[in-house]
Amino acid sequence: MPEPQTSALNANQAWWDGLTKGGRRPSQRRVRGDGMALYALTCGWLSCNLNEMLAGGEGRIVFPIPAYLIDHPKGLVLFDTGLHPHSIDDPHTLVGPLADAFDVRSRPGDDIVSRLERLDVDPGRVRYIVNSHLHFDHTGGNGFVPNARVVVQETEWEAGRIPELVQANFYNPINYDHGHIVKRVDGEFDLFGDGTVVTIPTFGHTPGHQSLKLKLPGGEIVLAADACYFCQTLENMHLPSLVYDRARMIDSLLLLRKLRRNGARIYFGHDPEFWRSVPQAPLKAV
Ligand SMILES: [Zn+2]
Repeated sequence: MPEPQTSALNANQAWWDGLTKGGRRPSQRRVRGDGMALYALTCGWLSCNLNEMLAGGEGRIVFPIPAYLIDHPKGLVLFDTGLHPHSIDDPHTLVGPLADAFDVRSRPGDDIVSRLERLDVDPGRVRYIVNSHLHFDHTGGNGFVPNARVVVQETEWEAGRIPELVQANFYNPINYDHGHIVKRVDGEFDLFGDGTVVTIPTFGHTPGHQSLKLKLPGGEIVLAADACYFCQTLENMHLPSLVYDRARMIDSLLLLRKLRRNGARIYFGHDPEFWRSVPQAPLKAV
């Protein structure tokens, strides 16, 4: 059952206090080190017409499906969970209404459970899944992370339960409707109350898309997800052909530009070239 909606900072803190009452669960071996760390996990590959991702683009593109593990002293956090492992064999069921537009190019092992296994992390120990949005390539592994609280923008979660919006946004509830406790947030939300993991609303791609701002020892990183597919999306304000709300997506790109001007490094949503530059788990991403 979803928790009551909260938005004030105090309420957020109360939520966190409630979760941590009674102490932290016995922790599996920490992934690495005592501070916060970020790990990049490739949780699938897709192919589609470039036009889908960059309006007017020609030819096909093969692109990665990133997910991230954040190892915070107060618990493990996933930002997105990639493609469902069975989407390789049964795309029409798992990818759903977009199966004709997107070919699954994943191989066995390109899924969240396999990626976590290689880090010696039991998915049952992950405390939070922050979903950028509800599309199949960002929620496909949610069902394999059974004990996590899902943190999602209120507008996104609501859209995922309204049939007309499910259809308009090509959502496939088989990927996200697993009975997790859902923390619906409204705008920025500081997950641990220490400013290190903060959701930022970047609406436009979908009704309630969000990105994730991380304060790491080496500097600030923004995991943009589908607010910004590629580096050139940001450089040229080059939008995809299919956007839920163009004006809002442009506002979100302007916000990302501002964060970058202020020193943040932007991690693009599906940029193959950028992704090649990111060390993959079990290495730390930074
Ligand atoms: Zn995506």
